[in-house]
Amino acid sequence: MNIKFIKKALTDALFPRDFTCDICGIETFDGNLCPDCKKTVIPNNGAVCPECGRRTVRPEICLECKAEPPLFKRGYSALVYQDGAQILISKFKNGNGYLKEYFADLLAAKDLPKTDAIVFVPMTKKSERARGYNQGKMLATCLSERIGVPVLKAFEKVKESKSQKTLGIKERKNNLDGCFKVIDKNAISGKTLLLVDDVLTTGATAEALTKTALYAGAKAVFLATVASVEYTVIKKENASDVKKANK
Ligand SMILES: [Zn+2]
Ligand SMILES: [Zn+2]
Repeated sequence: MNIKFIKKALTDALFPRDFTCDICGIETFDGNLCPDCKKTVIPNNGAVCPECGRRTVRPEICLECKAEPPLFKRGYSALVYQDGAQILISKFKNGNGYLKEYFADLLAAKDLPKTDAIVFVPMTKKSERARGYNQGKMLATCLSERIGVPVLKAFEKVKESKSQKTLGIKERKNNLDGCFKVIDKNAISGKTLLLVDDVLTTGATAEALTKTALYAGAKAVFLATVASVEYTVIKKENASDVKKANK
């Protein structure tokens, strides 16, 4: 062993090189985010809607849920989907799968309900091959290790849907019709499930899967997402949908 090697090994041990901020990439000495970026990641721990779990002005049922209560029993999300959380989730979907650990820690710290199994949003075989991984499945597995609830591969995606991004809320719901199937009805019959996903936007995906699960005999579905779009943002998007429809 030469001196150079020993020196390098010592430096590596003292200053692990992977200690960088997950958002901006600068070196950090405490945790996975630098102090500036940490401020941009907003925890969803203030007033939330007791049904969908989105951040609201007051801790009461949001108008969205009042108008159409979600099929899932209750939603929980760790972060508000904006700024830092948005960047992190985009990174998670685009090659930085290691973020599952951080996200699973955040979710495990929430007061999640007792459930029989954790389930995740399936991808078609083609899309999973293209991305190389299903980020929801990774998150589910990681959360399972922390809260001790087994992961169940409950669903398969049998039809590719259009990218939800370009669609309005109504279109998003129709877009998912017939896309999901329960793999084994007996496996979920009578069970309480915790559906894990990265982000709750309009809720179309969570609703479609919950509907599929309940139809197959599941007792109840709870939803846990890393982040959720807050209620006021959804309301604005809905309003722009109405405008679009009126044009
Ligand atoms: Zn940073
Ligand atoms: Zn709500």
